Amino acid sequence: MSAWQDNVRRVEPYIPGEQPDFPDMIKLNTNECPYPPSPKVSEAVAAFAGSSLRLYPDPNCRSLREAIAKRYGVAPEQVFVGVGSDDVLAMAFMTFFNSEKPILFPDITYSFYDVWAELYRIPYVQLPLKDDFTIDPKDYLRENGGIVIANPNAPTGAELSQAHIETILAGNPGSTVIVDEAYVDFGGTSALPLLEKYDNLLVVQTFSKSRAMAGIRIGYAIGSGEMIGYLTAVRNSFNSYTMNRLTLSCGVAAVEDEAYFQEITAKIIATRERAVERFRALGFIVPESKANFLFVTHPQISAAALFAALREEHIFVRYWNKKRISEHLRVTIGTDEQMDALFAFLEKYIKKNGQA
Ligand code: PMP
Repeated sequence: MSAWQDNVRRVEPYIPGEQPDFPDMIKLNTNECPYPPSPKVSEAVAAFAGSSLRLYPDPNCRSLREAIAKRYGVAPEQVFVGVGSDDVLAMAFMTFFNSEKPILFPDITYSFYDVWAELYRIPYVQLPLKDDFTIDPKDYLRENGGIVIANPNAPTGAELSQAHIETILAGNPGSTVIVDEAYVDFGGTSALPLLEKYDNLLVVQTFSKSRAMAGIRIGYAIGSGEMIGYLTAVRNSFNSYTMNRLTLSCGVAAVEDEAYFQEITAKIIATRERAVERFRALGFIVPESKANFLFVTHPQISAAALFAALREEHIFVRYWNKKRISEHLRVTIGTDEQMDALFAFLEKYIKKNGQA
């Protein structure tokens, strides 16, 4: 006799970065924004009429889609919104990756992609990044059932040029190419203008990083109206009301405050560039990053040991004990004060442990 357990869809879930809660901690492990959201968001929360929670939210999320459409110069029909970009990407994988041919993505990238592929039983091939952790676009000119590229990539911060994105789009008219731009607002170039030329492109972005709203969960996709229609149909086959009323109004308030968005992203970029110099001065190897984090390694220092030592100090960064990246740490860019505290510790640590 078979057991009910034989019929279970068993999955290896994605493991998000830890969310420790110490009053004195410096949290540089999950690429959150160190600054608060726009003050307009707090105003939206204060003005929110709790009594409206009696009613279901707008299943079409019209207000937020219109605000995003206006900001990016597209039609509201070209915008899909979800519960963080994880939700948007999960729906997009299910919608667009429905082939027997494998989908393609790099071996070192956002570690949720293989989890969704496994969950949905989508065949996939992970193409190795070059030794310098960059993508060779020619690798993506082979038969496939879809492509997903994080640009800038995570956890490396490396950007793939628009010319290379275009090579991948032009070479794959039969596949949906998802460009995950979670980190694009920190100096990267968005693929959005390529939507005019390529109807196989879906661009995914988030409010979690550059709009400082990881806690409220808003992500969005921009593509052709046809593509967004397919995505919406799949979403509506799960849950028509993924976006609640409070989230929708906070999202609108955030997108409309362009000046604040520009101010905090510029601050983070400036802090990042200073951090690159300071890491390098301590002997770390730091590739150029277009994201709100740096992916660093030190020739004489064990990444695992440094990760643990930082943790003792309640300075949290991200470490993966995985092939090719087990000597790297990913460090989110915090405020200048937080980075000062990090470097004060690193200077002492390297002095003590860094001599070969
Ligand atoms: N894409 C990438 C590349 C990420 O690093 C993250 C953050 N973990 C996400 C998507 C998802 O972010 P969110 O769901 O908060 O929008």
